[in-house]
Amino acid sequence: MNKAKKIWFNNKYISWDKAKIHVLTHALHYGSGVFEGIRCYETSLGPAVFRLDDHIKRFYHSAKFLKIKIPYSSQEMKEAVLKLIKINKVKNCYIRPICFYGYGKMGLDPDGAEINVYISLWEWPKYLKESVKVKISKFIRLHPQSVVSSAKVCGYYVNSIFATFDVKKEGYDEALLLDYRGFVAEGPGENIFMVKNKTLYTPKLGSILPGITRDTVIKIAKDFGYKVREKDIALKELFRAEELFFTGTAAEITPIIQINQYKKKIGEVSSKIRNYYKDIVTGKVKKYYQWLSFAN
Ligand code: PMP
Repeated sequence: MNKAKKIWFNNKYISWDKAKIHVLTHALHYGSGVFEGIRCYETSLGPAVFRLDDHIKRFYHSAKFLKIKIPYSSQEMKEAVLKLIKINKVKNCYIRPICFYGYGKMGLDPDGAEINVYISLWEWPKYLKESVKVKISKFIRLHPQSVVSSAKVCGYYVNSIFATFDVKKEGYDEALLLDYRGFVAEGPGENIFMVKNKTLYTPKLGSILPGITRDTVIKIAKDFGYKVREKDIALKELFRAEELFFTGTAAEITPIIQINQYKKKIGEVSSKIRNYYKDIVTGKVKKYYQWLSFAN
């Protein structure tokens, strides 16, 4: 792991090696925390965080469902992220805010446990390979009546870990999970798009995390004249797609070159979207400057 110098903890900057927790931390036992994954990119005007406002908004949205009152304003959180980048003197990094029930209470009702907020960052150039081989997992995405699908809750990720184990043992790079009805949902940490006849299709909201990269792709696709449809996608449609790609803050735009036994090519649409996304996040597209928060 690429260690940084400092981690933000409850409004203080502490050294990386001092960011430790008690074994009776509530969230360690029950997953009772929420987190974000954000990226910062080097631009000609200095390091810039991509869609920071939207990530912080989702952080508060997630916290609400776990009855966590984050004891800092969203403005304070945004400033903390930007200052942490400066303090650590990094240009390209992945940023991980997390807020969770800590020490002081065992038992499932976390009321009474302390609330801890941390922001860590590190250099994480690649989350997935340049292109990936994907298999449908036997594990399905969490039922929307079992969880709040739009919240990014720590405990949910055990579902993603199971799906990942399931396909990695067969030599695939990444899993794809179906929803409880058998329609395509998402990857363990990515949303998915398929391309047919210059139209992009992506699963509609319901069982998936409303990804910020997914939203970015929906908004930028029309700059190329591509149509976008959010809909239920059946497996046989996915297998017949011309192109497939994953989207995510960590994964960025990652083409899928195989889904189960079906090989796919990295097509023109995926390549154009991938390159455009890279240009946008690195400050080369004026039109989308409003998505960048500069850290200098
Ligand atoms: N789905 C899941 C389950 C995720 O964990 C992520 C990563 N946050 C995504 C989709 C993609 O979301 P985003 O584009 O906001 O990073």
